[in-house]
Amino acid sequence: MSTAAALIETEHRLGAHNYKPLDVVLTRGEGVYVWDTEGKRYLDCLSAYSAVNQGHCHPKIREAMIEQASRLTLTSRAFRNDQLAHLYEELAALTGSHKILPMNSGAEAVETAVKAVRKWGYEVKGVPENQAEIIVCSDNFHGRTIGIVGFSTDPDARTGFGPFAPGFRTVPFGDAKAFEAAITPNTVAALIEPIQGEAGVIIPPKGYFTKVRELCTAHNVTLILDEIQTGLGRTGKLLAEEHEGIEADVTLIGKALSGGFYPVSAVLSNSEVLGVLKPGQHGSTFGGNPLACAVARAALRVLTEEGMIENSAKMGERFLAGLKDIRSNIVRDVRGRGLMLAIELDPAAGGARQYCYQLKDRGLLAKDTHEHTIRLAPPLIVNEDQVDWAVEQIAQVL
Ligand SMILES: *Cc1c(COP(=O)(O)O)cnc(C)c1O
Repeated sequence: MSTAAALIETEHRLGAHNYKPLDVVLTRGEGVYVWDTEGKRYLDCLSAYSAVNQGHCHPKIREAMIEQASRLTLTSRAFRNDQLAHLYEELAALTGSHKILPMNSGAEAVETAVKAVRKWGYEVKGVPENQAEIIVCSDNFHGRTIGIVGFSTDPDARTGFGPFAPGFRTVPFGDAKAFEAAITPNTVAALIEPIQGEAGVIIPPKGYFTKVRELCTAHNVTLILDEIQTGLGRTGKLLAEEHEGIEADVTLIGKALSGGFYPVSAVLSNSEVLGVLKPGQHGSTFGGNPLACAVARAALRVLTEEGMIENSAKMGERFLAGLKDIRSNIVRDVRGRGLMLAIELDPAAGGARQYCYQLKDRGLLAKDTHEHTIRLAPPLIVNEDQVDWAVEQIAQVL
């Protein structure tokens, strides 16, 4: 048995089957490429769900990680460390936020925001105790904790995991009228993805977010944008909200905040919302640890200094144009913003997964989502030749 087959068998035998990965066993990554145990090279068009925007094993992030790992890794927040303040400063300068709360996974950032806006609702907005409501969208993806799957509309995400926390109202994504109708005096927040990634790169109609922003301001509702996937250059801007010309009250980032080296997430907010959290009311042993901070600082630095956001916009346009030129009777729709792209196949084509396997054989890794959609999201350092090569492979397969 080959090494890869043996590893897959062991995973199958000992691991929980909560994932169904493509059968490719990777052992090394550099830039836009990863290699499997047999030495075959692939162009990574998933980027670990946009956690590796900066490319695999970016040398400057790696250097920062090794340097910090040799000095100090974890103090807990019982004491202070000399990295956190710098991360705060750099994040604030970059995003214009006034208060920051560091966590680890994306789901933790979402949970943190939900806690903070509820408390803000009671203490500042004056909502009666335990009556706070948060508006969410259908087909959302915000993570996998009990709190979060409770307001998912995906049966796979929620079935069998109840009972769930009350206090969430679901409205169709992209429908400003439905959003307006869902607002009550007890609405403390709206939690929305600027583009729904897991749902298949769903871009809302023009003007939707302008209207949502207006409504939130008019009704004193905190607008929380989950930019864990769309943020940090993925859509060709630092934050996807910039495409809409709006500013969220609370922004959630994660994934690429560490360039794929370490779980690091953060809640970015105005001072009022995060200001309600007092000592002892929220925390995390690893949140804000010096290793995470040093890695995140380097990940943010290379993102801006190396022009990755501009490259994402440029290469995204080229990629999208290339995909739109593909003549295939199984392609139903092609869409994207920056390097967050998707090809929706005709349901008659028999599912996207087989095409992902064919792409894998040609040396391109992509992921099917929701049966009929192929998602494409290469690292933001991808170049023209690599984009053209990817389009060619996709054209051949489709
Ligand atoms: C990935 C993701 C999350 C959850 O992040 P984890 O680190 O997996 O917990 C939340 N929201 C969005 C939009 C995501 O893409």
